[in-house]
Amino acid sequence: MGSTSLPWLSFLLLSFLQLSWVVNGRNLSGSSFTLIKRDLYHSSDSLIKEVKALVGRHPERLTMETVSAENKGYIADILVVTYNHVKEIADNVKFRILLSFGQHGRELITSEVALRLLRILSEEYTIPNLDLVSLNNILEKLVIKVVPMENLNGRKLVESGDLCERRNGRGVDLNRNWSVDWGKKEKDYDPYEENPGSAPFSEPETQIMRKLTQSFSPHIWVNVHSGMEAMFMPYDHRNTTPDGFASDIMRAMLEDLNHRHCQNRCLVGSGGGSVGYLAHGTSTDYMYDIAKVPMSFTFEIFGDSEASSKDCFKMFNPIDLATFNRVINNWCAAFLTIFETGPRWLDKIRSEVLSNSDRWVSIDSYPDEELVGGNNKGRKMEVIDFGMQELRTYFRLFLVSSVLLLFMFCTRISKSKSRLLLSSASL
Ligand SMILES: [Zn+2]
Repeated sequence: MGSTSLPWLSFLLLSFLQLSWVVNGRNLSGSSFTLIKRDLYHSSDSLIKEVKALVGRHPERLTMETVSAENKGYIADILVVTYNHVKEIADNVKFRILLSFGQHGRELITSEVALRLLRILSEEYTIPNLDLVSLNNILEKLVIKVVPMENLNGRKLVESGDLCERRNGRGVDLNRNWSVDWGKKEKDYDPYEENPGSAPFSEPETQIMRKLTQSFSPHIWVNVHSGMEAMFMPYDHRNTTPDGFASDIMRAMLEDLNHRHCQNRCLVGSGGGSVGYLAHGTSTDYMYDIAKVPMSFTFEIFGDSEASSKDCFKMFNPIDLATFNRVINNWCAAFLTIFETGPRWLDKIRSEVLSNSDRWVSIDSYPDEELVGGNNKGRKMEVIDFGMQELRTYFRLFLVSSVLLLFMFCTRISKSKSRLLLSSASL
């Protein structure tokens, strides 16, 4: 081996070492970080297996389906579990709740809440002060759809070592891929965190969730996340909440939950106004504005503000058994409160709305033929929403082509003028 090859070799070795310290743009060197606590947390495979086994043990209460979608070779599968205890009452007269967990890969704790909640609903697990008789009475009038792990592909990346990954399996943030105010970028935009995708609903996961919303037409939507303790209502893309009585009811409901289950520690308010940054293209803004879900929320169930920003597992997930159980049980209790009080909050909204406008007419009040295929009103709004986006694009194209034409016109005039000058000079 010649002496000239030595510097090259050391350069290659150094580069390799540097590369191994950088995981997907995140430099993890020089700081200690917590690995996934395998003794507390299920792997994605074992969690899904447990959910499926649970459904298998309780077919009278739980059913499930795995919904798949594909875009340019990228495939996503989402498991949806439905709790529906009394089938004699039609779904469209029941109170409908849609809960999604694990939209961001690194927030493992949220999917653990989903599993525990399903175990409570099937009476395999109980929490303190839970009265099963009254719970069953409440549950008879509900249909609850639970998505335990919305972002399975992203979660797999986290499990393979990229502990800070929140996006899906091809780098898109599923909570920026919806159509309300899609694609707008703030000054501090970080593609690692917030890549909105190539278009609204470009991602199979988002397409599946939208379809599920359209067919189910929930009265309550909760998008469950971690990173802090908060209960957010719309809007995420503005620092205000919507106007009107329905918005006041949403806030009152969150204040009540905060008092009962978060010891008033949780931040309550609009996502955009409370979290410290605006978020564009989020699920909850879509659910409220387009799908017309009257009570649309984002819950942030745990955050370790002391953790280093590189120590993602610790920042987003409890790492000791006591906190792990406390967080899960507290938030399961909060969901049980929602199951109990949700219909009453909705009645308040309805009675006020009936006397004012038809903004919040529930799907229950639609003629039957309109129910086929889901919420037409939401779909109409969506069409308008996309129509506006297209109009804006056409207007921009029109402006650009007008400027180009003007430019060509001006150059032609100046050319013919100079030709005129030249011909007059030659005379
Ligand atoms: Zn999140």
